Amino acid sequence: MQKVTDYSDLTRISYSIRKSIVKSLATAGSGDTGSSLGLADVFTSLYFNHMSHNPAIPAWEERDRLILSFCDAAPVIYATLAHAGYFDLKQLYTPGKPVSRLQVHPALNKNLPGIETSTGSPGQGLSMAVRIAIAAKMDKKSIRIYSVHCDGEMQEGQLWEAAMAASHHKLDNLTAIIDYNGLQTDAKTTDVLNIEPLVFKWQAFGWNVVECNGHDFRQILNSLEKVNEITGKPGVIIAKTTMGKGIKTIENNHLWQGRAPTHEEATEFLCQLDESLILAIEEIAKSGF
Ligand SMILES: [Mg+2]
Repeated sequence: MQKVTDYSDLTRISYSIRKSIVKSLATAGSGDTGSSLGLADVFTSLYFNHMSHNPAIPAWEERDRLILSFCDAAPVIYATLAHAGYFDLKQLYTPGKPVSRLQVHPALNKNLPGIETSTGSPGQGLSMAVRIAIAAKMDKKSIRIYSVHCDGEMQEGQLWEAAMAASHHKLDNLTAIIDYNGLQTDAKTTDVLNIEPLVFKWQAFGWNVVECNGHDFRQILNSLEKVNEITGKPGVIIAKTTMGKGIKTIENNHLWQGRAPTHEEATEFLCQLDESLILAIEEIAKSGF
């Protein structure tokens, strides 16, 4: 897929994805609005600039693989795949229905193009990514494997077993990305079960760690390049994000991890996203990038 390199263009794409997320969830009447919006810039960076993939040939053998371990954020991968051309945008407005290919959590048996595997229970996606990364090494493939996690998943024991296995097997073809917004469904992560010091934990497990602002395309793309520069080590990006990014009235409110907008709210949210897009483009122009 042709890479989008202009930061303003990437911003426009990410806001189109955000608008599709809002419309999709309002139609479904359920789903995770806040996290999905917060990850839109990371997913735009991955699918429109960084990853090797081909929406016209979803099963292309040499494609990079992405596992969405943070399955509650399924709306962001659905909207990103649709905007990248994997399937018709109209399919975004069927989520959650039994006949839909867009289940609440990604489901492989629904054969949605671009979905690599089913995910559900938090903390398990890294184990799947490790398995794929080992297989790629054994097959001498030069593909890259990505897994995306929420910060709440850092509280899951299985994730750390997988982290240990990744460094043991020297999986420098593996990149984990953490959506670090400091919130989970019930409260702040520091109040539920403190995950700090997170950088030191990953380093202690043998990973190369890079931190970035998860809404700054220059930082995200640099991190994706930089994180696997060390041969023989897996890489992890801790992306600082804002839950609900782009809709000021719901930003940093953990209650929006577990709810969808009503149709009335969605109308208001779409207006706010238009305003935030203008501000974001102005910021890019001011920064000179
Ligand atoms: Mg979180």
